[in-house]
Amino acid sequence: MSIIRVENITKRFKDKLALDNISFNIEEGEIFGLIGPNGAGKSTLINIITNLISCDSGDVFVENKNLLEDTIYIKSIIGLVPQELAIIEQLTPYDNLEYFGYLYGLSGKLLKDRINEALEFSGLMEVKKKKISKLSGGMKRRLNIAIAILNHPKILILDEPTVGVDPQSRNHIFDFIKKLSKENNTTIIYTSHYMEEVEHLCSKIFIIDEGKEIAFGDQEYLKSLVFSNKKIHLKLNSLSADLLFNLKNLKGVVSQEENKDMMVSLIVDEDFSLSNAISLIENNNSSILEINYEVPSLEDVFLNLTGKNLRD
Ligand code: ADP
Ligand code: MG
Repeated sequence: MSIIRVENITKRFKDKLALDNISFNIEEGEIFGLIGPNGAGKSTLINIITNLISCDSGDVFVENKNLLEDTIYIKSIIGLVPQELAIIEQLTPYDNLEYFGYLYGLSGKLLKDRINEALEFSGLMEVKKKKISKLSGGMKRRLNIAIAILNHPKILILDEPTVGVDPQSRNHIFDFIKKLSKENNTTIIYTSHYMEEVEHLCSKIFIIDEGKEIAFGDQEYLKSLVFSNKKIHLKLNSLSADLLFNLKNLKGVVSQEENKDMMVSLIVDEDFSLSNAISLIENNNSSILEINYEVPSLEDVFLNLTGKNLRD
């Protein structure tokens, strides 16, 4: 079942067309990546899905209910981690969680359990009584996420949660999100302008640029849009001129890049068979010491589809 359906959403800010007829479905339990450069329209879309701002036309359905008709129920099942930190600097992590827990209507043992769970999940147990000013940027981000999961939302939306975060905290956030998805079957919407992040994390990816859909699908599909060929690097224990010639003429080999020492790099298409290559190499009294495939990155996909780099 699609837990979220976004249908033909259009939004203007004065002359600026921020979203141009955007549609997609999100399946329950999926980690959905919304990716695009700064100003693409990601936060605007998140703000519409969470009913913080209205759209000019189009509809959003959550669990088949119209966002504008079942607003209170839908709000109760969505946790939002906004792009800007929403924590109280004067309180400790524990007290922040307690305060926001009260706002969600939690109290007593349930609240205590949820706070401990959120601290555990976010890896903040050891700093729960520290001053916020003593926490790193990454820890603050994690606290921002911990607050959003107190309420056990069915849907967790994270708007650029890793901006300004050190690599260690970033990995911690990834693990945290994967764990939520796996253990609680939480549906996750993750926005970013870093391709390699969604590449690690997301099962489906929607690429947006200047308010328009650029592409939507799983990674395999997105990569197939621009690449049907792969690059393969073989390290051999011996390489004769004959063997090189035969490799070049093997079925499925499109071209051969410069070889160095005992390395051969081949561009191959879907007709290439590795077992044929192995037989050929062995029949030429050589063998493979090392083999590497070079897989195209989503960054390459974005560059190919828009002619632009994702990075500013
Ligand atoms: P992203 O989150 O992908 O960086 P945004 O959704 O924040 O992009 O912005 C998309 C576009 O809409 C940008 O050009 C931005 O300047 C514009 N925009 C966003 N919010 C407003 C607003 N409240 N008023 C006017 N323009 C806005
Ligand atoms: Mg944004």
